[in-house]
Amino acid sequence: LIELRDVNKYYGELHVLQDIDLTVGKGEVVVVIGPSGSGKSTLCRAINRLETIRSGTILLDGSPLPDEGRELARLRADVGMVFQSFNLFAHKTVLQNVTLGQVKVRRTDKAKAQEKALALLDRVGVAGQADKYPAQLSGGQQQRVAIARALAMEPKALLFDEPTSALDPEMINEVLEVMRQLARDGMTMVVVTHEMGFARSAANRVVFMADGRIVEDRSPDEFFTDPRSDRAKDFLSKIL
Ligand code: ATP
Ligand code: MG
Repeated sequence: LIELRDVNKYYGELHVLQDIDLTVGKGEVVVVIGPSGSGKSTLCRAINRLETIRSGTILLDGSPLPDEGRELARLRADVGMVFQSFNLFAHKTVLQNVTLGQVKVRRTDKAKAQEKALALLDRVGVAGQADKYPAQLSGGQQQRVAIARALAMEPKALLFDEPTSALDPEMINEVLEVMRQLARDGMTMVVVTHEMGFARSAANRVVFMADGRIVEDRSPDEFFTDPRSDRAKDFLSKIL
């Protein structure tokens, strides 16, 4: 579904993505881990065309990513993204947050969009908060609204960049539980996270990055019990 071939990106002199080859099949959950600065966020942003790349190809459903305009807006809707900082529209209610994109990008009529928004808010467990503003919600609730907003676009895949890193510990699980449910429902997901429990229980594959390269790309079982590279061994010894 998502395919990166020989992707390279630079920030000035810094080679942030080096010869990246990555394929994410339909229904697969790929967890991306690695030290700070290894290029995990840049990888996610490149997949969503929030960053340009120097060379290589990124395909979605076999087609290259569009550069601009309406096609690009559709791509962003097809590949939803959930960030560390919740990124909700602060001056819109929860319901409006989940309705807007459907109306603007998907051209759904407003009543239908609201109905779907309410069903999704219910699915992520925040139906009671529909008329509140983001600042009136807990971090965990805001992040679940952000997931509902992404789902409202009926994406082909979802990208998560450290979705629980900004949350208080007691809220991390409620967000991970929603993500586990999505995984069980067959959603294609790329998840950058430091939650190794999630990686073990929900991932089909773990991709380990260091210095802009994919160093390992294996099943969680293999990766956690028998990391091959010194970089991965070193990383795991620090976090486990
Ligand atoms: P973290 O775990 O801290 O989120 P990361 O793996 O997501 O790290 P990236 O954010 O992808 O890492 O950054 C990769 C490298 O690119 C880092 O060295 C970072 O300093 C650099 N970088 C990121 N964004 C920019 C930018 N806009 N301009 C210049 N350099 C950048
Ligand atoms: Mg990052």
